[in-house]
Amino acid sequence: QDSAATTANSDSARDRAALIHPMTDLQRHDREGPLLVTRGEGVHVYDDDGNAYIEGVSGLWSVSLGFGQTRLADAAYRQMRELPSYHLFRHKSHPPAIRLAERLLAIAPVPMSKVFFANSGSEANDTAVKLAWYYNNALGRPGKKKIIGRIGGYHGITVASGSITGLARNHADFDLPLPNFLHTDCPSHWKYGLPGESEAAYAVRLAANLEALILREGPETIAAFFAEPVIGSGGVIVPPAGYFDLIQPILRKYDILFIADEVICGFGRLGAMFGGSLYGLAPDMITVAKGLSSGYLPISALMMSEAIWEACYAQSGKLGVFGHGFTYSGHPVAAAVALETLDLYKELDVLGNVARLAPLLQQGIRSHAEHPLVGEARGVGFLGGWELVADKTAKTPFAEPGRVGLMVERHCQARGVILRALGDILSTAPPLIATAPDIERIVEVVGEALDATL
Ligand code: PLP
Repeated sequence: QDSAATTANSDSARDRAALIHPMTDLQRHDREGPLLVTRGEGVHVYDDDGNAYIEGVSGLWSVSLGFGQTRLADAAYRQMRELPSYHLFRHKSHPPAIRLAERLLAIAPVPMSKVFFANSGSEANDTAVKLAWYYNNALGRPGKKKIIGRIGGYHGITVASGSITGLARNHADFDLPLPNFLHTDCPSHWKYGLPGESEAAYAVRLAANLEALILREGPETIAAFFAEPVIGSGGVIVPPAGYFDLIQPILRKYDILFIADEVICGFGRLGAMFGGSLYGLAPDMITVAKGLSSGYLPISALMMSEAIWEACYAQSGKLGVFGHGFTYSGHPVAAAVALETLDLYKELDVLGNVARLAPLLQQGIRSHAEHPLVGEARGVGFLGGWELVADKTAKTPFAEPGRVGLMVERHCQARGVILRALGDILSTAPPLIATAPDIERIVEVVGEALDATL
């Protein structure tokens, strides 16, 4: 990286002259330059010098089928020639969007009535917020509008979805969250459980806190609660035992919509088609993106219950139009690639692969639990993380947040494995087609990187 950064006309120099990178330390980037990725094949990506890396986070938890799936390229090419672009506004439609909506409804983990398409996870979650408001307006409850997310939750980065997100690094100096976006407890038992408090007791306390928040604000003011089955970008946080069994009845009791954000957990990441199935989730809306197209093209979707659909239908009758939508909602090429992706998940039996190899990955992750830098090693399915700490016993975080995480990430990269440090939580989410040797290599390199960082 560094040598390329010094050559005036290199891609690295041009990158720094022209680009602003998302979620990047801009000053560090200016000093060190990018990792230039030029090609991908299977679980590997290659840099401009031809070095291979295992993509241990599937890009951004998205390229579930790995790189170089020619069937996805062919599906895009065929659709490009047939109908490269069209929209769904004002009664227009096209076959790929219809087929994809049907497929999603057929695999939905709980009965869902309709599908709305967008382009990113953020847009799908923004749409869910707007539908929660629209729904309550339709029901004549204009005061029922507040949205509850969780500390540590990640739901996107636009003004509304970024407000549901419960991470300080995404709020600071962007003037988020907006008013009326509230946050309840982070579900990390390791971090926030009291001494001697069991996971079950922690879940009871969190549920009581949620109910107290609802009562304090007034249930008649709260529209919806958002949760990822397992928190991803906030640090791979697995819910404590019994958590959702306690949370869901409270939401129902106060007539609060439950929106399951399956943007990372959907399509096999946790070993089931939808992560929520592992925890008995019965949401009113489900948002998906990333794995929907294996990250090959931008597309996201929101599935809604019959009750939400009925409200939209009734309001549209009153207002003359359902006044929400994106130019590229249900884009035919993205939809065609998503359909092919869903076929490939089945044909390649990715759920079977995750079921077979998740124990290897999860045992491997936990094999580093005793390392002096590791506070907790955790995960489910093909998702995992190592929470790094200054003092293991006292669970003390590092004085300079994120520095050690980045060091470990860099040591992994130097050894040919790309992982992602979320602050000081190192995360992995291998492509769902990864083999046992790929997983063993990821685990081995993390061990070496942790030792090198000590
Ligand atoms: N929801 C979850 C759970 C995510 O992990 C992400 C992205 O990481 C999003 C929503 C936002 O998706 P996008 O970056 O496509 O807007």
